[in-house]
Amino acid sequence: MAETEPRADAVTMDKIVSLARRRGFVFPSSEIYGGLGSAYDYGHYGVLAKNNVKARWLEAMVQERDDIVALDSAIILNPAVWEASGHVAGFSDPLVDCRTCKLRFRADALDQSHCGRKPSKHPGETPDCDLTEPRQFNLMLSTRLGAVEETGSTAYLRPETAQGIFVNFKNVLQLARRKPPFGIAQIGKSFRNEITPGNFLFRTREFEQMEMEYFVPPAEAERWFEYWVNERFSWYTRYGIRESHLRVRAHEQDELSHYSSATSDIEYLFPIGWSELEGIANRGAFDLTQHTEHSGTKLEFVDSATGERYVPYVIEPAGGVDRSLLAFLVDAYDEEEVAGRERTVLRLHPEIAPVKAAVLPLIAKSDEMVAKARSLYEELRRRSVVEYDDNGAIGRRYRRQDEIGTPYAFTVDEQTLDDDTVTVRDRDSLAQERLPIGGVREWLGDALERPWRSPKAG
Ligand code: ATP
Repeated sequence: MAETEPRADAVTMDKIVSLARRRGFVFPSSEIYGGLGSAYDYGHYGVLAKNNVKARWLEAMVQERDDIVALDSAIILNPAVWEASGHVAGFSDPLVDCRTCKLRFRADALDQSHCGRKPSKHPGETPDCDLTEPRQFNLMLSTRLGAVEETGSTAYLRPETAQGIFVNFKNVLQLARRKPPFGIAQIGKSFRNEITPGNFLFRTREFEQMEMEYFVPPAEAERWFEYWVNERFSWYTRYGIRESHLRVRAHEQDELSHYSSATSDIEYLFPIGWSELEGIANRGAFDLTQHTEHSGTKLEFVDSATGERYVPYVIEPAGGVDRSLLAFLVDAYDEEEVAGRERTVLRLHPEIAPVKAAVLPLIAKSDEMVAKARSLYEELRRRSVVEYDDNGAIGRRYRRQDEIGTPYAFTVDEQTLDDDTVTVRDRDSLAQERLPIGGVREWLGDALERPWRSPKAG
């Protein structure tokens, strides 16, 4: 949970929200109707960046490994799944109502909430606050299936993607011919009726998760738990998050979920303080055992060579796509003064950046420059997301690209017409060099693959 700590750099949540809005990463949802509290729509650059986050996760989980397969299960499952998983009975947060201001708060997070009358105080801190006793509030969003409202059956929008994986355990075990240790990875939307959504993308009621269930022999569970905490921590640093802004926090015994014997959170130093980015849990045999009991289908592993049978333990790294993207944006945000002018720049890892390069003809009225720039743009876009921009002064065009985190800009100028070279400008160092136009595609390919470290890391 969040705790406040002073931050060394200039980033605030307001600046991120404002940049995201201004540059079309993220919009408040249903804005023309006044919005819907804490719901967001992703615009062009937001979609591209979010897809990059998901692609990097899938690469690390599936493409670069032998032992994990992908899955995309339904959002609405048989309601019995949620009985078995314990969500119907126990997926709840304690809430309190204030009889004075009529607001609702999470009883376990009053220190992060604001009194409706006196926002500088926490609920319960003023003599006027009149809080009810805490009561449990189930976070699952329900809906009705079937044509006739009254006779339709109640179903739930999944609050996590994990259960879709457990109910497919047998299919994957048989068809993908896997034996423990092996994993099933899935990215998809989840829904929670959060009592206090907020902090931009950090906590919303509709969000995307990246979850992987790793099935292991019970005796190996502890070792694999440690392994996945380390793997996931390295994934964030691999894509540029500063190590100094990440930490691992082991849950205390009284914080553990009903299914978990050990959980560690990877936390990031958001502008709201250290908060969970991803949780890694040792879920033991809980889920497979519950689904075996409730469905009557045995979910276990039988070793055909030895005849040994057991219910695998599950190690689960569960992260959020939106929350990760928020961390990438926060970590990348920078302001600096260049030649007496303020510049805002997103120092995103090139593999997370929505646009990899911009192609800019220096003079938009020069047909020759435009022709060369267009032809370079068309060549580059076959491989990467690149942008062509001939609109406005070159300095303004650079600044637009800086704000969306484009790592490289290729400029076609007078000299290009003489010697077929272009300049390449580096977003972070602002260094410029000349390259033959024919070599740009290869140069960009190499540049995007080079190991990258945030210049903010110092
Ligand atoms: P929190 O304590 O912040 O409510 P949690 O422990 O309930 O999170 P998990 O059930 O472990 O979260 O979900 C795994 C991940 O899914 C979280 O680490 C987070 O990145 C993401 N996530 C969970 N709830 C939300 C939400 N309401 N909005 C955005 N992302 C979420």
